[in-house]
Amino acid sequence: QKEEWAKLKDEPTFTADGEQVELAANIGTPEDVTGVLNNGGEGVGLYRTEFLYMGKNELPTEDEQFDAYKSVLEQMQGKPVVVRTLDIGGDKELNYLDLPKELNPFLGFRAIRFCLENEDVFRPQLRALLRASVYGNLKIMFPMIATIEEFRKAKAILLDEKEALKNEGKDVSDDIEVGIMVEIPSTAVIAKQFAKEVDFFSVGTNDLIQYTMAADRMNEQVSYLYQPYHPAILNLINNVIEAAHSEDKWVGMCGEMAGEPLAIPILLGLGLDEFSMSATSILPARTQLKDLSKKKLAANKDKILSMGTADEVLEYVNELIN
Ligand code: PEP
Ligand code: MG
Repeated sequence: QKEEWAKLKDEPTFTADGEQVELAANIGTPEDVTGVLNNGGEGVGLYRTEFLYMGKNELPTEDEQFDAYKSVLEQMQGKPVVVRTLDIGGDKELNYLDLPKELNPFLGFRAIRFCLENEDVFRPQLRALLRASVYGNLKIMFPMIATIEEFRKAKAILLDEKEALKNEGKDVSDDIEVGIMVEIPSTAVIAKQFAKEVDFFSVGTNDLIQYTMAADRMNEQVSYLYQPYHPAILNLINNVIEAAHSEDKWVGMCGEMAGEPLAIPILLGLGLDEFSMSATSILPARTQLKDLSKKKLAANKDKILSMGTADEVLEYVNELIN
């Protein structure tokens, strides 16, 4: 099997019926890119920039960030790289930022909520990204977007910094796509309205599941409710994909679900364009996709979306692909 995987390393990803999808990787540091390329990644679907901020005693400087982003973009040689802006708070704390202690950190002051209130932290990251944009195919993604206003504000700050850099005589790419994570149900529900304004979506199922099922992703006692195959989750994902495609935008997924062998056929049938996963899952996924018919899976989409339980979905999909 390893040999079959190796053969597909530098190949694009096609289904049995000739449909193309993109298999990308989730990374946390520039050092991770070697693994992405060795495992045949066609892009980076999620660069979690938190690691630049963690394990130290002060904020990373704009230049430090620039070096990291430039390194990832250069190593990826023109392949798409989706960089997510700072997603701090919730399970990820920073001791030097004295974030408030909260009763419900996962429902609290985190990610884009924090960045919009702390532009002195947000702007240097955006500047570093914009400066790095000329070294590859950069896409910028905002995390934890719950309202269209949040997206507009974040994008306005980005455009403001772009303008400022240009006035300083610095080079900035004019082809940077700006998108959002869909990990809050409100955003999944009105994806159609968002789709008119964003360049792309990436579904963050790790959080989307916890917020939809009201089940803390770190709490063992409610982990039985953490159900990627729950029809509510699948219907939300479907809504996002349909909304995006109706506006000619692309949709990826960067939650853990994107790399699961039973999720891949469902997501393919729903029309997902990009699957972003840990690097080591890429070649198994490419091998699996080679034998799947998108047409056949799409024909079963309505049936799957109308089911009542995750178990029914799993049983049905298992039969469909075996
Ligand atoms: C997600 O929520 O699915 C996601 C990819 O982000 P994180 O796991 O970093 O919260
Ligand atoms: Mg998340």
